[in-house]
Amino acid sequence: MTTPSLLILPGDGIGPEVMSQVRRIIDWFGDKRGLAFDVSEDLVGGAAYDVHGTPLTDETMERAQAADAVLLGAVGGPKYDDLDFSVKPERGLLRLRKEMDLYANLRPAQCFDALADFSSLKRDVVAGLDIVIVRELTSGIYFGEPRGIFQEGNERVGINTQRYTESEIERVARSAFELARRRSNRVCSMEKANVMESGILWREVVQKVHDEDYPDVELSHMYADAGAMQLCRWPKQFDVIVTDNLFGDLLSDAAAMLTGSLGMLPSASIGAPMANGRPKALYEPVHGSAPDIAGQGKANPIACILSFAMALRYSFDQGDEAERLEAAVEKVLADGARTADLLGEEGKTPVSTTVMGDLVLEAL
Ligand code: ATP
Ligand code: MG
Repeated sequence: MTTPSLLILPGDGIGPEVMSQVRRIIDWFGDKRGLAFDVSEDLVGGAAYDVHGTPLTDETMERAQAADAVLLGAVGGPKYDDLDFSVKPERGLLRLRKEMDLYANLRPAQCFDALADFSSLKRDVVAGLDIVIVRELTSGIYFGEPRGIFQEGNERVGINTQRYTESEIERVARSAFELARRRSNRVCSMEKANVMESGILWREVVQKVHDEDYPDVELSHMYADAGAMQLCRWPKQFDVIVTDNLFGDLLSDAAAMLTGSLGMLPSASIGAPMANGRPKALYEPVHGSAPDIAGQGKANPIACILSFAMALRYSFDQGDEAERLEAAVEKVLADGARTADLLGEEGKTPVSTTVMGDLVLEAL
């Protein structure tokens, strides 16, 4: 068997800071667990623009296409705000997603027991929550044609089009069912089949994929507005939620906040299976480049560490090792270590990015 390859793109702002902690953890898995990865590192975003004049070179794009998994930090920052749209750091990430055709965005909302009380941050979280929202990422109303602002008589009209093909629905449904089989085997599909044609087709196709290929998975359907209510009322009723681009955008942000902090949230974007059967995948923390704290050693590396745990589970078939890493994070939090984002105004002293990395390694 060839050694699986992992392309690391630290990016900008706190990206490189959190990623250097992940590099240490990857090395640990190599040394202590015999998990060898062919790791390479490259530039993306503003960091790539500074060197190459573009946020993603063709060479980097090719390496990403060839890698078994890509792990990205964050892109962007105020330094690049005035750049032309075509070379903005974010364009690098968009190009990766588009050319790798990463159509399923997996956003776990998981609450660690040690962080069940966030009252010092004036925030309620849901202890014990562990759900994943699968959002369709490359189609729907954000991409459908016609779109634009048009003159209509003596006034203007803004138009976006919600459009889904059967195959687009089918492939994201498959991603959700595959994911559910690695979890609690339950999928809830959300749309608005009561008022939208795309919703009617969505429900029909998801049901068909289920009946034909995933009858073992428990499937339910919900209107997305009712789903939003249920997500607030009783979020633990869900395991995997699959939904379209627009609803997924809203629902995944809402679900994220049930767990507390942006610095804790990993994500994965998944595409079609490669020759080896594993899907193309890009893993990244949900948070951005956090320019306000960049370079100060304050960033919480856990979201990026947990993104690597997702890579272990979904790209490298190392579910047990992913659990080992998640358990180490859990232990460090249970022992009381907190980066600044996890602390309220009063009380404890925060640990730095590097110390958080040290502690996770120790717990491993
Ligand atoms: P983007 O447009 O890239 O999403 P943003 O400004 O919307 O950027 P972030 O860069 O994620 O969002 O920052 C939002 C806030 O959360 C900032 O105050 C930032 O300092 C904080 N934050 C984000 N990530 C972390 C982290 N890993 N550790 C600590 N604080 C963080
Ligand atoms: Mg943002």
